[in-house]
Amino acid sequence: MWILKRLLFPVLMLSIVSGCAVNKSSIGGFNLISVDEEKQLGDKFAVEIEKQHKVLNDSEVQGFIDGVGKRLLAGVREVDFPYTFQVVQDDSINAFAIPGGHTYVNTGLIKASDSETELAAVMAHEINHVVARHSTRQMTQRYGYALIASILLGNQGELSKLAADMFGKAGTLYYSREMESQADYLGVETMYKAGYNPQGMVTFFNKLEATGQSEPGRISKYFSTHPATKERITSIQEEISKLPPKSYSPDSTSEFSRVKAKTKNL
Ligand SMILES: [Zn+2]
Repeated sequence: MWILKRLLFPVLMLSIVSGCAVNKSSIGGFNLISVDEEKQLGDKFAVEIEKQHKVLNDSEVQGFIDGVGKRLLAGVREVDFPYTFQVVQDDSINAFAIPGGHTYVNTGLIKASDSETELAAVMAHEINHVVARHSTRQMTQRYGYALIASILLGNQGELSKLAADMFGKAGTLYYSREMESQADYLGVETMYKAGYNPQGMVTFFNKLEATGQSEPGRISKYFSTHPATKERITSIQEEISKLPPKSYSPDSTSEFSRVKAKTKNL
């Protein structure tokens, strides 16, 4: 029995210690795909995505989304990738980031946001899926490293298939609950550091939760993978309450209003 105790104790301690290490505030973690490979993969996917979605070509909208993206990047922990930001002409409320930092925002998301801060909240969440390298980890788990490696070597057929499967109009890249809660946690931190009031994440998700109850059909697939549940909103609120008080920039700008008005007419 004493042997068992002596053996169990270190194992128990180890699991407690490693349990603490695997927390949402740590972005490290094992990934079979290197940062360089992820960059290459991202560039390949971006070409496919831009065939499958209609990217908006408007200098004012582009300038605005670049501005929000750049400002958020100033608040992330690490910038390993050359991030790009684009608006996709699509009325469903959605935003997604692919490997390597290419980030896409639907016009439907801009229309559903009541302020620049609310839009920034969803973007901050997406950017942090990239910062914590969730998509490559999830892809390796779902499809296996061999398939990813074959795409890196130029397997065009698999590339198109995977791009549609994960990021196409009906595509679904599901993240684990832990990854989602980490992207929320880091998203709050990013907004705070970038001078956006992280409360915008709460107001946006509260609004969506209400819409989800009254008109579930309006909530796109983004919110089926990112449910605005009371539990999620409460934990975001808890993280915000731990932050030292700070004065934030105004929630909205005339630039946002102009861009929003423009997307309404598309
Ligand atoms: Zn997410």
